[in-house]
Order: sequence, then C-alpha cells, then structure tokens
Amino acid sequence: MEKDYRKMLDRAYEELPDQMETTDRFQIPRAYVRQQGRRSYIMNFKEIADELRRDPKHLMKFLLNETATRGNFDGTRARFQGRFSSDSIRNLIEIYTNKYVICPVCNRPDTHIVRERRLNFLQCDACGARSSIGKS
Ligand SMILES: [Zn+2]
Repeated sequence: MEKDYRKMLDRAYEELPDQMETTDRFQIPRAYVRQQGRRSYIMNFKEIADELRRDPKHLMKFLLNETATRGNFDGTRARFQGRFSSDSIRNLIEIYTNKYVICPVCNRPDTHIVRERRLNFLQCDACGARSSIGKS
C-alpha cells in the first residue's frame, strides 16, 4: 500500500515541472481590436488590464498618450477616436507590459506600481527589485 502511494507521489512530482514552466513564461494578452467607422475598439480591454493586474485607467491613459487621440473605457471595452490596426494596438500593449508590468531585473510579471514623491516605481514581488518608471 505504502509503495503505491510513493509511486503516486513520484508521478505527481514528475508532472510538476511542465506546469511550472508554462506559468513561468508570461504571455502578453492579445488585444481583440475592431474598427467601426472612424472609431476603434479594444473589445477585451478589461480582460487585458486584469491579466496585467493593472488599473484599466492607467493602461487607458498610456494608450491615449501613445495614439494621441481621445477615447474612453466603458467597463469592458475601450473606445478610441480614429482607426488603429490590431497590430499597432498589440504593439503598444507589448510596450506597456514591458515598461509597467515586467520586472527588468528578473523578467517576471509579479509586480505592482508604487508611488513615492510623484515618482512611480515598479516594485517586484518576486525578486524585490524596485525600478523607476518615471513621473506619473
Ligand atoms: Zn524582479
């Protein structure tokens, strides 16, 4: 009986490394962009912010700055004035992720933003590094 249990445990441990690898590599969430007339929408905007664990307002502000346009977040989707391709939006989200989510020291996404004297820092929960990300 005990032997069988041991075997089961061994097997369970053998299966672990694969699972850990998949959670290790952070996938940048893919934006689903739609154009309607002279407007563009990120249909899964809330999901993207959730996956990045960032305030949707913060991500929205970044995108509006980069695209130099106006827009708003309605709780689920983000709307932008003007036509923006999926590629350009995805590219901006990648830039955002690399700048505001991924720790530059250990390359992990387990971070949060802390504010001190009007300066923003990326505080890493994994390795403890604190990196400056500029003024707010
Ligand atoms: Zn780190």
